[in-house]
Amino acid sequence: MTDSVLCLENVGHAYPGTPPVESLRSVDLTVLAGEMVAVAGPSGSGKTTLLNLAAGLDRPTTGSVRLAGHAIESLSDRRLSGLRAYALGVVFQQFFLLDQLSAVDNVANGLLYRGVPTRERRRAAAEALDRVGLGHRAGHPAGKLSGGERQRVAIARALVGRPALILADEPTGNLDSANGAQILDLLRDLHAGGVTLLIITHDATVAAACPRRVDLRDGRIVADTGRTE
Ligand code: ADP
Ligand code: MG
Repeated sequence: MTDSVLCLENVGHAYPGTPPVESLRSVDLTVLAGEMVAVAGPSGSGKTTLLNLAAGLDRPTTGSVRLAGHAIESLSDRRLSGLRAYALGVVFQQFFLLDQLSAVDNVANGLLYRGVPTRERRRAAAEALDRVGLGHRAGHPAGKLSGGERQRVAIARALVGRPALILADEPTGNLDSANGAQILDLLRDLHAGGVTLLIITHDATVAAACPRRVDLRDGRIVADTGRTE
C-alpha cells in the first residue's frame, strides 16, 4: 500500500462561541506520498482551518487527523512540535523570511529544530537553494531579493529537511502573474521529483495547475478530482 502522508477521517472542527462556528464538517481527505493536491474554496469555506489541522497547529473537534502516520489528536504538544519539525515544511503567502539574513541562512533555519550542526545545515541549505534555482543568490540578504526569489527561498527552507509533506498557503498570493507562474512551475517540478505537496488556494489558476483538486464549501468537501498516484 502506498503511504498516506496526511489522512483526515470524518473531521469536524468548530470554533468556540454561542453558537459555535462549524468550520469543517465530516471531512475525509487522504494525501498519498508523491501527490500534488490543491485545496480550493472561497473565503470562509474552511481552507485556513484545514491548513491549521494539517500543520498540527490546531486539533480536530471530532474525527482524526494523521500526519506521517501519527494521530495528532493523541500527541502531547511537545511530541506534536517534534512531528512538525520532522514531517512538515510550510510555505506562506507572506514568505516570512528574516530580511537581514542571507538566503542560505534563512534556508538553514529550516533545520534549526532538528539539532543539526551549523555546518551541515549550511551545506543542506546550499543544496536546497540549488534545487530552486537560486544557488547564485545564496549570500544575498533575503530583503534584497525580488518577491519571486523570496518565495523560492521560502520553498527551499520548506524542502531542506526533506519533509514528508510540504504545505503551501496561497504560495503565489503576493506575486504578480509572471512570478506566480514561475513559482507554480517550480512546485510542479518538485512534484515531478517526488515531493508531496498540499496547496491551499482561492486562485482557480493555481488549482487548475495541480493534478488533483479538492473543493471546499461551507466546511465540506464538495468535489475531489481524485488520486493521481
Ligand atoms: P477560509 O480560510 O476558507 O477563508 P476559515 O477556515 O478561515 O476559511 O474559516 C471557516 C469558518 O470559520 C468561517 O465561517 C469563519 O468565519 C470561521 N472562523 C475562522 N476563524 C475563526 C475564529 N478564530 N473564531 C471563530 N470563527 C472563525
Ligand atoms: Mg483563510
